[in-house]
Amino acid sequence: MPLYEFKCASCGRDFSEIRKAGDYNSVACPECGSTETQKRVSMFSGGKATDCTPSGGG
Ligand SMILES: [Zn+2]
Repeated sequence: MPLYEFKCASCGRDFSEIRKAGDYNSVACPECGSTETQKRVSMFSGGKATDCTPSGGG
């Protein structure tokens, strides 16, 4: 599941939540509990340096 970034419009706290794809409508703020949160735009460009070498055998 993707990790979405939100920003609370009530207290201004920014946080991240792991939601299902497209399910980021009613996200409550972990600080004040307000649902006046806005999804922030996150960069999905490749930038992680993950070494995932498919080494067969073993
Ligand atoms: Zn808040």
